[in-house]
Amino acid sequence: MTEILQTQLLINNKLVPASDGATFDLYSPHTGEKVAKVAEATREDVDLAVDAAEAAFPAWSAMSPFERGKPLKKLGELVMSEKDELAHLDAITMGRPVTTFFDSFYAATHFNYFAEAAYPQGHTSLNTPGFLNMSLRQPFGVVAIIIPWNAPLVFFSKKVAPAVAAGNCVVLKSSEKAPLTSWKLSQWIEKCGFPPGVINVLSGHGRTSGDALSMHMKVRALSFTGSTRTGRAIQIASAKSNLKKVVFELGGKSPCIIFDDADIEQAAKETENSINWNSGQTCMANSRIYVQEGIKDKFIEAFSTFARQRKMGDPTSPETNHGPQADKVQHEAVLRFIDLGKKDAEKTIDTGNESIKLGESKSLLVHPVIFTNVPEDSRLTKEEVFGPVVIINSFKEESEAIAKANDTEFGLYAALYTKDLERALRVGKKLESGMVGVNCTSPTGCWDLPFGGYKGSGTGRESLLESMDHFLETKSLYVRVGGIGGIV
Ligand code: NAD
Repeated sequence: MTEILQTQLLINNKLVPASDGATFDLYSPHTGEKVAKVAEATREDVDLAVDAAEAAFPAWSAMSPFERGKPLKKLGELVMSEKDELAHLDAITMGRPVTTFFDSFYAATHFNYFAEAAYPQGHTSLNTPGFLNMSLRQPFGVVAIIIPWNAPLVFFSKKVAPAVAAGNCVVLKSSEKAPLTSWKLSQWIEKCGFPPGVINVLSGHGRTSGDALSMHMKVRALSFTGSTRTGRAIQIASAKSNLKKVVFELGGKSPCIIFDDADIEQAAKETENSINWNSGQTCMANSRIYVQEGIKDKFIEAFSTFARQRKMGDPTSPETNHGPQADKVQHEAVLRFIDLGKKDAEKTIDTGNESIKLGESKSLLVHPVIFTNVPEDSRLTKEEVFGPVVIINSFKEESEAIAKANDTEFGLYAALYTKDLERALRVGKKLESGMVGVNCTSPTGCWDLPFGGYKGSGTGRESLLESMDHFLETKSLYVRVGGIGGIV
């Protein structure tokens, strides 16, 4: 019997229950056991957290970047020293195998980087006679952050670190599916030396606390990672309230094109990892693969061989690299897409190995599935599944592959495999996508180049170099210094 955790909200450096005492239950997606009673933040809690952030802002924003960096560094140390516990908390809530937990290293890098790099700069201008003009970069004040469940610590760190380093105070809402790592960090905020109100952490569902943050008149900027559907709702809430600035990292339906001169083994190995890592619950997973006709059978065989090597099972086990879907809702949604694929695709290949008998277990595991020759207008080709489900279709010509890859409302990460460098650059230029992998695919990337999507996959870009920009306003200050001239 596992211990049932009881979580709180962090408001003004106090760990408190929800104002009405409400909680919701979380269950392990592998054992079905209850693992936590989670505080469900109310609208009143959102107001209290925003008020605390507002009160903390004048002193926090007046501190030097060096002073603001000190608690961030301590948080970076703690996420590393407690990484096993953090990995365990995600494993028991959303089924992420502990063997795949890179998140502490990612988070520590971000906390450390922004602890040192937060020296925002404006410009000066002497181009107006009689004036010495300048632009200032200043924090917004209260910033809201809403994160998803598939890598919560990654999103906590990549948004909170630049926001507070720039001098803002934040209210973060974790995902109802995986709130425990954010809750764990909330227990360390005061100990690290953050003054009360600088970082507030709420748990709860979108319809109450998420919506209250999106509609809040005192929240001046909101950074969101999650589905395109929720991004739309937040955009509308922003427009209906105070036109707060919004930054979105949203869903994907990422294509990968494999040309017939590619290294088939490498392409198969990496594309299989891309779609099946985290049980397919990755925004940038290459869920649509387009293989040039002559190599299709060989590619599918190699891909299936890698998929069959997955070790499915208990996400807390050091043997497992493929855990269950995050919860019943995700599980059912993925199974519905698999049923659809069985109708729409020419062929269905179940690549699950028999390490666990699905019918005899409470686990929400799903066997990885390949669907071949799926019509381009099928819902399976158009919509994000967020599960271990890949489409492998074929193409004859380069132009056909590009047209199919771009025929989507998403545009997060596209990839291509070829030994022809000219073709790689020509095709890379034409793909409508915020990120393009050449002879590599997602999650390959780099932390100091822009991360984000074209079209319905988002607005704005995040990275070590870009992210702080989202959390700074720009002001032009015109200073008359005398003499001849003036603004014409
Ligand atoms: P989701 O949109 O359902 O939820 C994300 C967060 O938004 C949660 O905290 C949720 O409580 C909150 N929310 C829900 N409704 C809301 C509302 N009306 N107002 C305000 N907040 C609300 O997404 P999810 O299921 O948690 O995550 C999976 C999605 O996230 C996928 O679409 C995936 O592609 C996307 N994602 C994108 C990236 C990226 O960087 N582009 C990274 C990870 C995940």
